[in-house]
Amino acid sequence: MSDTISQALFERARAVIPGGVNSPVRAFRAVGGNPVFIARAKGARVYGEDGSEYVDYVGSWGPALLGHAHPDVLRAVQEAAEGGLSFGAPTSREVRFAEAVRALYPGMDKLRCVSSGTEATMSAIRVARGFTRRDVIVKFEGCYHGHADHLLVKAGSGLATFGVPDSAGVPEGTAKTTLTLAYNDIPALEALFNTRGGEIAAVIVEPVVGNMGCVPPEPGFLEAILSLCKKHGAVSIFDEVMTGCRLARGGAQERYGLRADLTTLGKIIGGGMPLAAYGGREDVMSVVAPLGPVYQAGTLSGNPVAVAAGLATIERLVPEVYEKLERLGAALEAGLKDAAAKASVPATVQRVGSMITLFFNDKPVRSWAEASQSDTKRFAAWHAGMLSRGIYWPPSQYEAAFLSAAHTDEDITRTVEAARASLG
Ligand SMILES: *Cc1c(COP(=O)(O)O)cnc(C)c1O
Repeated sequence: MSDTISQALFERARAVIPGGVNSPVRAFRAVGGNPVFIARAKGARVYGEDGSEYVDYVGSWGPALLGHAHPDVLRAVQEAAEGGLSFGAPTSREVRFAEAVRALYPGMDKLRCVSSGTEATMSAIRVARGFTRRDVIVKFEGCYHGHADHLLVKAGSGLATFGVPDSAGVPEGTAKTTLTLAYNDIPALEALFNTRGGEIAAVIVEPVVGNMGCVPPEPGFLEAILSLCKKHGAVSIFDEVMTGCRLARGGAQERYGLRADLTTLGKIIGGGMPLAAYGGREDVMSVVAPLGPVYQAGTLSGNPVAVAAGLATIERLVPEVYEKLERLGAALEAGLKDAAAKASVPATVQRVGSMITLFFNDKPVRSWAEASQSDTKRFAAWHAGMLSRGIYWPPSQYEAAFLSAAHTDEDITRTVEAARASLG
């Protein structure tokens, strides 16, 4: 499907990088064909090395909420870079950044900056274990929380796509302290807490799942997590690395009016730079070194250039951004539903705000068991059709597509037309 320049680059890449990519889903394995090598991006467009142009629904897998290369963010990055790339010492900018994040996430009394979502979730789990002095963590099938050992259990998208239930290289003992349940299964969660509540350090959840495709929480599911954790002295962790600043400025917690004990953020808060954060309740975060006994550190944590990009992004998250995302999202959802219905293709479109998935599945998807019933062959053919029509959709049935504030009504119209043609 892809151009000859990308093909040649992919061959060179495979000779020096495992699978030719620095993160597995980029390899297009789930849809066949070769990945497009991206030369640059601007607004809602990405451009291939051969000069081809695409309407982008990957958005760097989440960060590009304002669109790529937003001029104000670029200016902030350039300005910060002139002042030095890294000091390994406190800066005023990181204080402003932490204050800005706390203003959006009132549950985050204190927070730490790290460099990736993986680091954020890994650290949050360590803090929860240190705080509760318990070992067991609970996660849900199909939720992805980064690639730390104890979180690579039934972890959706990249892993699900490759059909690897657990990663090799994860010691059995480590995986044993992670218990998994079906997403949206409240009775199973209650039953687990009834039998093992005293051992559970934390429950970690994607409040809206993006990593098995877009799967919203059923009414009462998130509330059940919060109340059971509270009752049994466990720490609730909302992994908002994807949903944070996307579903609202204050993420899923603002959208649903909830507050978790700990929150993890990444992607959008870094504005395209490597920056993430974890934080939450004052008493829980007080165990973090140098205040307490839980060690967590990072040479580049709170990097001045990354923090500048993050601050510039957060400052531009005005209500109009979310109104636009909602309007474009609704139009895309309606267009995809209509296209599938007219083509008589069994499909379910699921959306929360600017996260959307077209499941090739005739039933609603509420869990990994249901998501995995989707027709991935049909998805692959549709994806190839979209790509050939200039639409860069996530290359897996199990990855949510993202809208940005840079998308336009014309982009949506064009995308729906391409979707219609690609279903035929
Ligand atoms: C992307 C993601 C992560 C991992 O973040 P990285 O920056 O890729 O390490 C963790 N949790 C969720 C929900 C994510 O979507």
